[in-house]
Amino acid sequence: MKHQARKRFGQHFLVDESITDGIVRAVNPRAADNVVEIGPGLSALTRPLLDKLDCLKVVEIDRDLAARLRGQYPPERLQVTEADVLTVDFSGFGPALRVVGNLPYNISSPLLFHLMAWADQVRDQHFMLQREVIDRMVACPGDADYGRLSVMLQSRYDMEKLFDVPPEAFDPPPRVVSAVVRMIPLPDSRPRARSDKALSETVAKAFAQRRKMLRRGLGDWTPLVPWQQLGIPETARAEELSVQQFIALADVLHEAGV
Ligand code: SAM
Repeated sequence: MKHQARKRFGQHFLVDESITDGIVRAVNPRAADNVVEIGPGLSALTRPLLDKLDCLKVVEIDRDLAARLRGQYPPERLQVTEADVLTVDFSGFGPALRVVGNLPYNISSPLLFHLMAWADQVRDQHFMLQREVIDRMVACPGDADYGRLSVMLQSRYDMEKLFDVPPEAFDPPPRVVSAVVRMIPLPDSRPRARSDKALSETVAKAFAQRRKMLRRGLGDWTPLVPWQQLGIPETARAEELSVQQFIALADVLHEAGV
């Protein structure tokens, strides 16, 4: 029976095989890889992934779609978790995780932040998202798109936009252009914020008024910042700071007990 796409679950199903092939080529799965697909839907990606893999884990919120998938593959090949991915503890999926998905766009930012908690056990992530979101993820200081999403994700991942995907590749077509991104967690050798919470709060406060000078935007935290020592001009705006400068700033604020 034809499945009626559910808007509340952000359902836009891939129907262009050249795009699914492109995503699978980008992932380049080996038979024994530990792969989790988020939102398998009608299995447009699931099928070609399973052609390459011994087994695949999927997380799907839609009860009908989860049941359909269970009917299509034996549990030893396809492990279906029927759940809201935002509530799923990824530590249960094991190490060297490769996460793949044509994501529901209505939860893309919360989902990207949710996954950051497991970056240490992730090998890589390949996602289809709104192109506009990927442009924000990979933006550099000074770009109009540079903001909280760019700094927080770049503090944990190397990211690369791979290719654009037009609305006609989906049924029903979304109103926006999509794109595919590759995210690889940074190695331990790269400097990390001492506290993810301090980094998150610093970045949120700084970008709340992105056009203001940072020393105004940070309010009562400003006197705690040794601007010269951090190499940050007192006239700098949030949108001009590099990710490393945000990490250094968050570290001193964390030390100062904010
Ligand atoms: N992978 C399929 C494809 O490419 O055709 C479907 C992609 S569709 C954009 C998003 C999928 O994610 C749907 O199957 C939808 O039911 C599922 N989904 C939406 N919200 C979800 C959530 N919170 N947790 C898990 N799956 C979700």
